Amino acid sequence: MSAYTPPLDDIRFLLTHLIGLDRLVFLRGYEFVNEELAEAILVEAGKIAAEKFAPLNQGGDRHGATFENNRVTMPPGFRDAYQAYVDGGWNGLPVRSAIGGQGLPWSLAMPVQEMMQAANLSLALCPLLNQGAIELFDAHGSESLKKKFLPKMITGAWTGTMNLTEPQAGSDLAAIKCKAVKDGDAYRITGQKIFISYGDHDLSENIIHFVLARLPDAPEGTKGLSLFLVPKILLKDNGSLGTANDVRVVSIEHKLGQHASPTCVMSFGDASGAVGYLVGEENGGIAAMFTMMNNARIGVGVQGLGLMERAYQSARDYAKTRAQSRDIGQPKQPPVTIIHHPDVRRMLLSMKAHIEAARALAYCCAYAVDVSHASPDPAQKAWGAARMDLLTPIVKAWLTDLSNEIASLGVQVWGGMGYIEETGAAQHMRDARVLAIYEGTNGIQANDLVFRKIARDKGAAFNALLREIEEFLPSLRAQKSDELAAIAQQLIPAVKAARDAGAWMLTTAANTPADAAAGATPFLRLIGNMLGGYYLAKSAVIAQGLLASDTGDAPFLSGKIITARFYAEHVLPQCLALAVTVMSGSRATLAATEEYF
Ligand SMILES: Cc1cc2nc3c(=O)[nH]c(=O)nc-3n(C[C@H](O)[C@H](O)[C@H](O)COP(=O)(O)OP(=O)(O)OC[C@H]3O[C@@H](n4cnc5c(N)ncnc54)[C@H](O)[C@@H]3O)c2cc1C
Repeated sequence: MSAYTPPLDDIRFLLTHLIGLDRLVFLRGYEFVNEELAEAILVEAGKIAAEKFAPLNQGGDRHGATFENNRVTMPPGFRDAYQAYVDGGWNGLPVRSAIGGQGLPWSLAMPVQEMMQAANLSLALCPLLNQGAIELFDAHGSESLKKKFLPKMITGAWTGTMNLTEPQAGSDLAAIKCKAVKDGDAYRITGQKIFISYGDHDLSENIIHFVLARLPDAPEGTKGLSLFLVPKILLKDNGSLGTANDVRVVSIEHKLGQHASPTCVMSFGDASGAVGYLVGEENGGIAAMFTMMNNARIGVGVQGLGLMERAYQSARDYAKTRAQSRDIGQPKQPPVTIIHHPDVRRMLLSMKAHIEAARALAYCCAYAVDVSHASPDPAQKAWGAARMDLLTPIVKAWLTDLSNEIASLGVQVWGGMGYIEETGAAQHMRDARVLAIYEGTNGIQANDLVFRKIARDKGAAFNALLREIEEFLPSLRAQKSDELAAIAQQLIPAVKAARDAGAWMLTTAANTPADAAAGATPFLRLIGNMLGGYYLAKSAVIAQGLLASDTGDAPFLSGKIITARFYAEHVLPQCLALAVTVMSGSRATLAATEEYF
């Protein structure tokens, strides 16, 4: 497997020019952010990713996490790498400084997360979940409970998990059956959870499970779910580790990919009931859990982004060394490296363009998260929250669908060797597959986009985003450049396709929801593709301006324009076809009733 090189040039470009680090200083608590600080963080995080996490990726896949004597052991090297991450204070990066974190904006924490995920997806899933658990706990936990558990979660000495899924309750959380009964100041939890990532491991001294369960006489459905903190090891009065809680790992799953990330079947309360502490209100669990789920959904999108970058680097490096066939039109010359062949260049450019589009979207979403948390202006804060809500299912589903396609393209660039495990290209494909499934399948994300994020506010946030893009179009058209004119030519109809399909969705979701549901996935794809084109076009305009003023790295900036044009001509035309599928495809889908299959 090839080494991982943090893509710092593109990260810097986006943070400096597309997001604007200078805008972050207007947010409460982020006044100290500047380019020097960002640079130091990115370079150091890149070192941990490249030097500590990345070298373990392939060995971790081969060895896998193991389960013996009711305990999970991580593959060789993982404990030391995780400890280096903890010792560097990386776990608390986006956590409020008032509670012991580093207090950095998500706009900076997300690139760090991307690098860790790219380097070693299986290992980096552990802190990803922990950061979501911290956000949930900080927002909904009682002060006394937080005092006991939160500081060690923030350092990463203890890690958090999310326990939602049960055999009969996957996408449908209303079917959760785990039980909780009050027992003095605490509760006793009984029941089984399945597919719990990092439900057990040996990276940390304690594991803090956040478990959805149902109290006696709770209302039916998700309104009857309460959230409990269930530690693996109970604490003594002085806060030190005490006896084991009644929590047992039954087994770990044997999976297609992510072999080094332990996915556990958990049994709570086999003996006397696991001790759990209520987080938030009784029957208010689902709303509290959504704080973690939203954080983790964006995080899983970033897993997809990191994985794509790793697959791209490996394919690119191979394409520069593998000699095969003569250059087209040069039959008498010796064979050339495959990167000379137009179709290989097309594949690599497709990988690179999608990655840069995906990165821009993810980072813009991170900026919206920061504004929603920290803007002093209530109107801006509301804008940030609405934009983050709208973009979350797109970041999750678009980026993870792409990660499957891009990892597969990576294998194609490698040819037959890509199908052989030693090269590592196949691992990326296997590791990517679950990203489109966990944290809410991409079908559920598409429903979320249509029925919650667009229909619920009657299209307000969606239309605000479209207006922002439509206001940018005249400035794109006004550029005196053939490249940018070519981009505008494709972006303008793509935006119109998004507007038409969005208007159709709004009416259809209200009147004939089955039709809207049948078109939800192609609709999400259309919006993702169009947004990618918008952010790349903006990047191309910025690059053009920098080139004109002779500022910056000219080859890199010219590359941004090439990438944007490639994306405009190869990806944006698909938006028009997707709009047709969205607006007329549901009839055939719905005509195929169960008997048809
Ligand atoms: C490796 C791994 C790690 C995981 N980690 C965790 C974890 O840490 N914590 C945790 O709680 N869970 C975890 N999960 C569970 C994961 O979140 C679920 O697998 C996922 O939510 C889907 O549920 P399901 O598998 O039961 O599929 P189902 O819900 O049975 O779905 C099957 C298919 O039906 C579709 N479908 C279902 N309902 C609808 C609907 N209403 N509309 C449209 N389509 C629908 C789905 O999109 C999917 O294609 C993990 C799973 C895996 C495989």
